[in-house]
Amino acid sequence: MRIFASGWSFDKDGPGQRLVFYLKGCNMRCIWCANPEGMSPDQEMLFYPERCSGTIDYVCSRGAINDKSLNRVICRNCAGIDCVRIWHHKCFELAGEYISPDEILALAETSRDMFGRHGGITFGGGEATLQTDELLKSLRLLHEHGINTVIESNASTLDFVSVAQIVDYLICDLKAVSDTIHRSMTGISNELILNNLNMAGMSKKELLIRIPVVTGLNTGQPEIKRITSFLADLHQRRLDALGLPLRVELLRMHHASKSKYAGMGLPYPMTAVELPGQDIIAEYKQELISSGIEIVTT
Ligand code: SF4
Ligand code: SF4
Repeated sequence: MRIFASGWSFDKDGPGQRLVFYLKGCNMRCIWCANPEGMSPDQEMLFYPERCSGTIDYVCSRGAINDKSLNRVICRNCAGIDCVRIWHHKCFELAGEYISPDEILALAETSRDMFGRHGGITFGGGEATLQTDELLKSLRLLHEHGINTVIESNASTLDFVSVAQIVDYLICDLKAVSDTIHRSMTGISNELILNNLNMAGMSKKELLIRIPVVTGLNTGQPEIKRITSFLADLHQRRLDALGLPLRVELLRMHHASKSKYAGMGLPYPMTAVELPGQDIIAEYKQELISSGIEIVTT
């Protein structure tokens, strides 16, 4: 499968110490996205000229680098990627390496001691369920070898259902319940997402719902009510049917990924957007807690 990054995290992308693979390609176009290099399924180059003090033109035999600026038209057609593969130059980061399910299993096997009792492998993105075949193959292999698995998903695909049946722990986004607001936030309808979340909520799988709180998009009082009512209803049905509570995490939007947009040669779309106020976060919390939902902080 094609990934744009991998790395370790603790209690942030599922329980315990986890090795996280970020899969490339997403069907949404969220303007606050913290991983713009995860949107396209294709390999991409991030370029950070400020990391270099001297000349760097020599790392590119195709002439895409000229006086610390990158000609992305030339760069897009490069097959060799010498700047990374030969020169390992710190100005460049390649997003879009390939890793096979067998390689992931091998890494998991050598990492067993690091996982401890609760950890394991997490697949995030981008949207991981878009690479269904290899994702399912990986999940089955890891399952057969007794390795705990988590998926972080926007829950927007038909294949989400098959993935949800195999994975140990689901972490799903809920961005908006109003379809109009959802379309303006992500570019797509939320009809399938709400169905998938209802299905996930009524399964025995471990489940965490994440709400990205984005100023001016899902911070209005009516939408906060719609989101918290949807979750309160799901929580109650989950509790009644399975005795399991719904757990929710609020993700306050941030500007930490601004440099990635620059690295991709893209304008940062959130420059003029302020962080959501603590009063908005408090309102979300109050509505959720009053419904008996557990708020998770990581
Ligand atoms: S990816 Fe290829 S074309 Fe682009 S800067 Fe590196 S070597 Fe040059
Ligand atoms: S769903 Fe996630 S990865 Fe995809 S564009 Fe939105 S924030 Fe980015």
